[in-house]
Amino acid sequence: MTFLQPDTLWWDGRLRAGALHRTAGGCTLVASAPSAERIPGTLLPGLTDAHVHLGLADHGAVRAGGIAEVWDLGGALPLPATREGVRYAGQFLTAPGGYPSDRAWAPPGSWREVRSPADGAEAVAEQEGASFIKVTLHAGGPLLDLPTVTAIADAAHDAGLPLIVHAEGPGTVETALEAGARLLAHTPWTAPLDDGVLRAAAGRTTWISTLDIHGWGAETPSLVTAIGNLRLFLAYGGTVRYGTDLGNGPLVPGINAREIRGLQRAGLSPADILIAMTPSAAALPPSWIPAGLDLDPERFADSLATARVW
Ligand SMILES: [Zn+2]
Repeated sequence: MTFLQPDTLWWDGRLRAGALHRTAGGCTLVASAPSAERIPGTLLPGLTDAHVHLGLADHGAVRAGGIAEVWDLGGALPLPATREGVRYAGQFLTAPGGYPSDRAWAPPGSWREVRSPADGAEAVAEQEGASFIKVTLHAGGPLLDLPTVTAIADAAHDAGLPLIVHAEGPGTVETALEAGARLLAHTPWTAPLDDGVLRAAAGRTTWISTLDIHGWGAETPSLVTAIGNLRLFLAYGGTVRYGTDLGNGPLVPGINAREIRGLQRAGLSPADILIAMTPSAAALPPSWIPAGLDLDPERFADSLATARVW
């Protein structure tokens, strides 16, 4: 165990003085620690990217880029036994012939076709070692029906595993909500959602942001639609997690300043964004910003992007 005394500490939602007591199990805040190691700059909770594909991205580079924990949202079984800094969803559960079984990027074995509600419960049981269950609903191909998605959601939640849905295209967000999904893998981007759907989604689901996949820095119609949906979802009290879909296209391997700026455009303050990036806070090694965290909205994204896993 170690005591760490930075110049400043962002903890429990604010910038403050104090020290961290670091053990194998994570970090706790202490008011003072006489024998602490002095550290320049700011320490903050370990940062999580809640949407990554480790089969398509280099985990070492992501960690070196300042991300302490990733949620690996779709990959083949068996899931690795060692899992430092990774939580897994297991396979994409999808309709026979459904997304992403028709995509070149999806490695064989990374999806599992589900043929009935009973088969859905079986598919959930097969995801040994998973922390989440993921279903894909892509209206551009065959779709699971509501009874099957509901059976998957029930089996997942009975096992203590939140259901995450990739909802893309007309009716898919509605199906995810009716089935009882707890998270959406992406901010919906194909069309502006109806007010009633946004209100229901805000009350029942958490969204993983993935704004930067829409243009990677260029202004695109889908980026504008996604930010509009997210802005209203947040206004109705919805909760968002920072996630990038790393592995999908030319994304930064590490903290993505463009994703952070997208969250700011949707209405999140720097403090809100830090909360969105630290769902597993105390259980992770802390993050370190050598030059100190700058909470000025203009400079915040670039400042946070210099964070490294301590
Ligand atoms: Zn993805």
